[in-house]
Amino acid sequence: MAPGAQLYGRTVTHGDDPGQMALTYDDGPNDPHTLRLLELLAKHNARATFFLIGRYVRQRPDIARAIQAAGHEIGNHTFTHPNLIFLSARKLRQELDDCNKALEDTLGAKPRLFRPPFGGRRPNVLRTARALGMTPIMWSITGFDWSAKSPGYVIGKVTRQVDSHNGKHGEIILLHDGGHLAFGADRSHTVTATQRLLEMYAGKEFVSVSWLKGFVAETLMTERD
Ligand SMILES: [Zn+2]
Repeated sequence: MAPGAQLYGRTVTHGDDPGQMALTYDDGPNDPHTLRLLELLAKHNARATFFLIGRYVRQRPDIARAIQAAGHEIGNHTFTHPNLIFLSARKLRQELDDCNKALEDTLGAKPRLFRPPFGGRRPNVLRTARALGMTPIMWSITGFDWSAKSPGYVIGKVTRQVDSHNGKHGEIILLHDGGHLAFGADRSHTVTATQRLLEMYAGKEFVSVSWLKGFVAETLMTERD
């Protein structure tokens, strides 16, 4: 399932304005890497989007609140990060509901964005997310940071993909501030890679996903559902 495929209904993979870039971080909150990212993003006046795992939010609500307080956007990445393809409709709904409850209890607001674990999109996954008022968000660039041996590996992957798109997109970059297998995954390569990306693309506006031009229409549609 390539992230660009739209077989199962519309999902957001990028914006229209190449002057913008949306950094997205999955599988947090995580300690200490999420907070290090917040420091870096603040230094560069950049906004990003964090897709949080509900059970980690229950574990470290303080970090989730720090993300919110810094002005970043927060989305649902399920409660336990299962592969949704293998779940019954009831369990799928439970995973999304439980994550939403954790986020609402912690942040006082329901998320409007959803990213499926492992990029798994099936009609029932997308329908369920939309029924809960969330827009499914994919990506146009993969950082491959889950297997990176160095920050340079991540930088190389991102810059090559950005170049291959010839500046046509407001790119959504997939990165990870946590690990779905256990809390506390080492994401120092991602932190360093982020610092260098912020410097390399300093001419771009780093926005959270909802601020990407070309994404506004679908957000409004979701609100009317
Ligand atoms: Zn994930």
